[in-house]
Amino acid sequence: MSQSETAFYWAFQVVKLGTARGMKRDPKTKEIVDGKTLYTRTQFDLDDKGGDDFKGIGETDMTTVVHETRHQYDHDIDNMGDNSEDNNQNDPAEIRAVHLENKARDIEGLKHRTKYGGKIDPKKLQNPPNNKMPE
Ligand SMILES: [Zn+2]
Repeated sequence: MSQSETAFYWAFQVVKLGTARGMKRDPKTKEIVDGKTLYTRTQFDLDDKGGDDFKGIGETDMTTVVHETRHQYDHDIDNMGDNSEDNNQNDPAEIRAVHLENKARDIEGLKHRTKYGGKIDPKKLQNPPNNKMPE
């Protein structure tokens, strides 16, 4: 690992599950150079299932991976401008991720997820803001 990645790497170690991006940093000052995503890194703990959002609806490795893949894709296409600091039911990035997760749930025969902490607005979950997909 290069020195420029170190701060990013250690910041990310505190979460069990999540997707973060790497950005170009000046090797001397460690300041972010242009803010564009160089790569994403997703950390999974696929043994850690459960939580209030999943009560009565279950979750599988696939639903978890698909959710995080949506975040990776949004980073890759620079579509995280509307991501809010607080990851909650109003965060457009999380609404997009749950929307795609629900497509995986259809395949897996599971009920749809309707919460991200709090209940997501059903209209937004049906048609998320900035829901850019590959052509
Ligand atoms: Zn998410």
